[in-house]
Amino acid sequence: MLKSFKLKNSKILGVRPSPGTNLPGGRVTREIHPRWAKRLLPNCMLTRLSHVKYNCAALNRCPLRKRLALIGRAKSSACRFRGAEEEDLKHVIFSCPKVAKQRQVVMNACKEFGYAVSLKNLFTRRQLQFPMEKLLIEFLNSNK
Ligand SMILES: [Zn+2]
Repeated sequence: MLKSFKLKNSKILGVRPSPGTNLPGGRVTREIHPRWAKRLLPNCMLTRLSHVKYNCAALNRCPLRKRLALIGRAKSSACRFRGAEEEDLKHVIFSCPKVAKQRQVVMNACKEFGYAVSLKNLFTRRQLQFPMEKLLIEFLNSNK
């Protein structure tokens, strides 16, 4: 019998590192969210979809080719825009030319608010949330 589950406080969202910490990407996840914790959902987000993708990325569940290839849903892990490099979170955020303009916006925001450029800051600092959501959604929405 299925048991229904209802959150008492819908503003609470659990964040847990991906269970497959031995899989590639587990290190990335732990770098961003080192331990299980409850956190408040922000009261604003770029779009609901972009916020979902942002949180998926932080948990290494973003539909990027490295992960998709690992689970048999993509033929190759090469970046859809420049095949020479693997398409993983670090590639998209730090080096993919497809989102160079948006990356500059993110880097400017880091500078403006005095944050070091690290995965943890990019995925946990409120001031960087919008530019990061925009970067990820721009990458994921653009066609091959
Ligand atoms: Zn790329």
